Amino acid sequence: MNRRGLLLILSSPSGAGKSTLAKRLMAWDPTIRFSVSATTRPARPGEVEGQDYYFRSHDDFRALVEDGGMLEHAEVFGNYYGSPKAPVEQAMREGRDTLFDIDWQGGQQIRNSSLGRDVVSIFVLPPSIAELERRLRGRAQDSDEVIASRMEKSRDEISHWAEYDYVLVNEDIDIAEAELKVILSAERLRRDRQPALPDFVRGLNTEFETR
Ligand code: GDP
Ligand code: ADP
Repeated sequence: MNRRGLLLILSSPSGAGKSTLAKRLMAWDPTIRFSVSATTRPARPGEVEGQDYYFRSHDDFRALVEDGGMLEHAEVFGNYYGSPKAPVEQAMREGRDTLFDIDWQGGQQIRNSSLGRDVVSIFVLPPSIAELERRLRGRAQDSDEVIASRMEKSRDEISHWAEYDYVLVNEDIDIAEAELKVILSAERLRRDRQPALPDFVRGLNTEFETR
């Protein structure tokens, strides 16, 4: 039996550090597949098509949704975002874990889908609201107006923290990274995710069939 890949969902208010954490996790374990989302928002300087996002027109995005090609999709900051289904299904078949950087709406949709039992969800919080704003400004990628709208939206995102399996407060990035690795390592070792137990254990364990 092959191990099924798990779906690691990272959500946070914009600027809390989930992209930074995602990059560090994938550098640590290159077998993790990042779910590259499709979006209708314009690319920022330095963003690469097919690597950061698939940048699509509204019409193309709608067609993808209507064809059933999306695992989930949602409107965030006036643009559409969604996770293409095919790469996730392929990664799961190959026993690889997939990492999602998506908002609470996407997290809810995947958790409530038929793949829900393979989900591990993590909410990343900033140490304070003032620090969140500092990080958004420090990133220097958005106008004052966009930053203000992200700050306003952050309350809504944060209000969903309790729907997640784990909560990380990203104060020191090295500590948050270490905590994230601990979560993934422990989840991989869960009894019901381990197909490669020695035969003698399987033979003994008939009363405790895994799900
Ligand atoms: P960021 O806040 O700097 O990451 O700005 P982005 O424009 O890249 O992302 C805005 C929000 O959309 C973030 O909360 C992302 O987690 C979320 N997001 C990105 N891709 C998806 C997706 O495929 N589905 C959903 N539901 N949310 C997404
Ligand atoms: P998100 O993906 O959640 O929007 P980013 O990963 O882009 O957030 O982080 C926002 C900004 O904050 C970036 O400039 C990043 O380098 C910085 N940052 C992330 N984590 C920390 C931290 N623990 N301490 C200080 N700055 C951080």
